[in-house]
Amino acid sequence: MTFRITFLGTGGGRHTTMFQLRSTGGMIVEHDGGNLHIDPGPGALTQMHKIHYDPALTSSVIVSHCHPDHYSDAESVIEGMTYGGWRKRGSVYGSETVIKGSGGLGPCISPYHLRLAEKYGAFEAGDVLDVDGLRTDILKAKHSDSTNVGFTFHTKHGKVSYVSDTEFTEEIAEQYIGSRVLLLPVTTPRGNRINYHLCTEDAVEFERIVRPELAVFIHLGVAILRKGAEKEAEFVRDSTGVRTIAARDRMVLDVGDEITVSDAACYDDDWIPPSSI
Ligand SMILES: [Zn+2]
Ligand SMILES: [Zn+2]
Repeated sequence: MTFRITFLGTGGGRHTTMFQLRSTGGMIVEHDGGNLHIDPGPGALTQMHKIHYDPALTSSVIVSHCHPDHYSDAESVIEGMTYGGWRKRGSVYGSETVIKGSGGLGPCISPYHLRLAEKYGAFEAGDVLDVDGLRTDILKAKHSDSTNVGFTFHTKHGKVSYVSDTEFTEEIAEQYIGSRVLLLPVTTPRGNRINYHLCTEDAVEFERIVRPELAVFIHLGVAILRKGAEKEAEFVRDSTGVRTIAARDRMVLDVGDEITVSDAACYDDDWIPPSSI
């Protein structure tokens, strides 16, 4: 099977999140070992319903850091994974602030919900996780939640990386060299650099260092949405020669021998997941 990523959200930052200009539900990764939900922020549950995704299909949850655009739906997603809390199963991983709380942030998942999972724990940069058989490298980031990290997944189709919230440094970008796919949180457009996040110019530098087959803009803030995220992605493509696109809600990325982009079917009905029966 391909390594499939479904984007339950492509927004990020507090304004996109609080106005839900884009959903902020993170992404579902379907791989040979199971289904992994990464960063289930606001909108995750709504989007799962819209694409008829049964939450009991999820076998692991990762929360990169303790900001609401990355964690606010996590407890309900864990309840979905554990059949409403009736069946202890799955794994939950997060940074220190997510799991234990630190420096006034978190914990953002309650001890009750952590214990619904078969396995849970905190990670830090330098760790290597086995997530349902998927080797996952935990990498450094530079963000206002200092425990935040990035991720490289070692799939049978090559390396796929999710750069969670960070500002740009060469050292941070160099960690991702060798990735076929780079999911980049580009929060602001050209001429609008803010602390602890990436802007379009940073994406140019990042992609020049990593040179992936495909870079995908996610975590889109209000300013880049106003300016047109697709146009910003085109600018980076033209500057670097790297195929670069802006993600849209419910977009599906299949990483196999080829990398293909499509959209999940979207329903507006009263579907009830099979796991409820
Ligand atoms: Zn964020
Ligand atoms: Zn953040």
